[in-house]
Amino acid sequence: MTRIAILYTGGTIGMVQGAHGLEPSAGLEQHLQPLLPEGLSADWYSAEPLIDSSALTLADWQRWLAEIRTLLPRYDGLLLLHGTDTLAYSANLLAFALPALDKPLVITGAQWPFGTPDGDAEPNLHTALATFALPGLRHVVVAFNGALYRAVGSSKVSTETAAGFDTPHFPPLGRRLPENGWQDVQLNTLPAALTAAEPQLDTAVRIVCHTLTPGANCAMIAHSLQHFPADGVVLESYGHGNAPADPALLQAIGALSARGVPVLNISQVAQGCAAAVYAQGDALRQSGAISGGKANRETAVALLTLAAANGWDSTEIQARLRHWQLL
Ligand code: ASP
Repeated sequence: MTRIAILYTGGTIGMVQGAHGLEPSAGLEQHLQPLLPEGLSADWYSAEPLIDSSALTLADWQRWLAEIRTLLPRYDGLLLLHGTDTLAYSANLLAFALPALDKPLVITGAQWPFGTPDGDAEPNLHTALATFALPGLRHVVVAFNGALYRAVGSSKVSTETAAGFDTPHFPPLGRRLPENGWQDVQLNTLPAALTAAEPQLDTAVRIVCHTLTPGANCAMIAHSLQHFPADGVVLESYGHGNAPADPALLQAIGALSARGVPVLNISQVAQGCAAAVYAQGDALRQSGAISGGKANRETAVALLTLAAANGWDSTEIQARLRHWQLL
């Protein structure tokens, strides 16, 4: 018998209609037992409070991470039920925070509440629960819409269809067959542990994310970089990591980099890569910005959150990106 813990944090999967719209509810547990496949048993844990994941704070991450670290040694794996809005941020964060897992940590949620006709809650739970039968999975993964995705590099890509998540730079790790088996399973593409050291999470770290757009955004970003006391900056630049050669922007990035505050340059394109391709991007590269390669927003924010809390410098940040095949 495989024994797992289920940690329910809220999200649409268990929501009910309230006076102002869908809201978290504790009633999901009763639906779970009949879905458990043969050979799998589960103990249910509810986060306090249950949240709509768009209300996620670093304090939630800290509480959940502590609970996950307590539960994992007692079970063969853990299923995290999470709202979809910030699910990919949490998936990335947990993958970096638990770098040497020896069992699966599967994350799922749903675009529609459990019980919605033709909804995705029940199928997503089936997919997530079936994941624990896969031999050799020792990573954080996202189970959604009949597929399994690596956590690092995952993104929410739709609010409108059941295909809510993707890893734009990587194929899914597997697809669930209707009769319960799996096809195209590629767990061997997941890297082995980089380090056994488990980083800490500090709720006081200030990571900001800025997106370049034509117009006034550049001046606003430069102003913010000069005045807001960030501990890490994600800069979503254009295309291959290019930016206007704006003196105030470049000067602000240079000043932060000189102080050891990481400015991680990533592409704002869903399947983009910040790389030394264009001359236009050179001034930004010379300013001290760290190339984030294929990191997406969720990966970059999660990585810098832990980097700031654990004093990782640009070498350690890029080592993790390289480890996850993003550089
Ligand atoms: N707002 C919801 C949440 O993130 C969306 C969902 O779960 O699908 O909690």
